[in-house]
Amino acid sequence: MAQTPNVIGTAVMQLLKDRGEPATPENYERTYYALSGLPRPAKPSEPADDNSANLELLAMLREMVREITEKTAHLANDLGEKNQGLAENVSDLKSCRDKQEILRLLSSVVMQAGSIHSTVESSHQELLETRQSLNAMQEELAETRQMLNEDALTGALNRRGLDTTLSREIARAQRSNARLSLAMVDLDHFKKVNDDFGHAAGDQMLMHFTSLIRSVMRKSDALVRYGGEEFTLILPETDARGAHFVLGRLQQMMARSPLHYEGKQINTTFSAGVATLKPDENGHALLRRADDAVYAAKNAGRNAIKLAQ
Ligand code: GH3
Ligand code: MG
Ligand code: MG
Repeated sequence: MAQTPNVIGTAVMQLLKDRGEPATPENYERTYYALSGLPRPAKPSEPADDNSANLELLAMLREMVREITEKTAHLANDLGEKNQGLAENVSDLKSCRDKQEILRLLSSVVMQAGSIHSTVESSHQELLETRQSLNAMQEELAETRQMLNEDALTGALNRRGLDTTLSREIARAQRSNARLSLAMVDLDHFKKVNDDFGHAAGDQMLMHFTSLIRSVMRKSDALVRYGGEEFTLILPETDARGAHFVLGRLQQMMARSPLHYEGKQINTTFSAGVATLKPDENGHALLRRADDAVYAAKNAGRNAIKLAQ
C-alpha cells in the first residue's frame, strides 16, 4: 500500500534517530527519498526545477513582453507617419489662399486627426487589456511561489522555505553583527492525540498549535513546519534569553488554551530546544544544536525548554 508523506516522514525521523544521525534538512531529504522510493526532485536552485508552472508563466510573460514591444514600436511608427502627414497639411493650409484647396486640406486634416485618434484609442484599449493580463499573471506567479514554500495544512513555511529563510537570516545577522536564535518545538506525545481522538483531531491540533505560535511571534520571525509535529522558529535580533521568554509565553498559552474538538477538550504540551547563532556557524550546525536541545527537553520529562550547548 502506498504510504502517505507523513507516515514516511515519521519513519525517516525514526531511522535518523536510530542511526544517530542529526535530523538536518539534507539528511531528512536523502533518507526520505531513499525510504519512499520516490524520484528525487532537482534542487530549487537548479534550472530543471519541479516548478514547471512557474516556468510556463515565465514563458508567457516573456511572450507578452515581446508582443508589447512589437505593438508599441508599430504604434510609434504609425503615429509618426500620420503625424508627419498632418503637419505637412497644416503647414500647406497656413500658406494656402485658394478656397477650394483650403477646403480640401481642411477635410484631409480632419480625417488624419480622426485616424490618429482611433489609432491611439485602439492601442490604448489593447495596452489596457495587456496590463490586466500582466497583473493577473503576476498574482498567479506570487501565489505559486508562496505555495511552493508553504506547508498546505498549517500555512507555515516548509523545508524549502526553511533553507532560503535561514540562509538569508544567518547572512543578515552575520553582516550586521546581530543576534539570531532558532527554536525547535515538538509536540509531546502527539501520536497519542491521533490515537485517542483521530487523525483529523491531530490535524486540528497542528493548526491550533501553529496559531498559538504565531500569536507569540514578531512580524520579523519565521515559522517553519520542520516535520510532522515539529516546528522551527527563526527569531532574528533575539538572544537566548529572549527566545526562552517567547517559548515560555507559548507554554503558558498552551496550558490556557486547549483545543476544543467535537465537544472534547484536548490538552497538550511541547518540548523545545533553543540555539543562538555562534560566530561563523552555519544553518545545519545551528539546527543540529537546537535539535539536540529538544532531545534533552524530552529526556528531562517533556513540557520543557532547553538551551543548546
Ligand atoms: P514525543 O513526545 O517523543 O515527541 O512523542 P510523539 O508521539 O509526539 O512523537 P512520535 O514521533 O512518536 O509521533 C509523531 C506523530 O505525529 C506520529 C505521526 O503519525 C503524527 N503526525 C505527523 N504528521 C502528522 C499530520 O500531518 N497530521 C496528524 N494528524 N498527525 C501527524
Ligand atoms: Mg512529538
Ligand atoms: Mg517529533
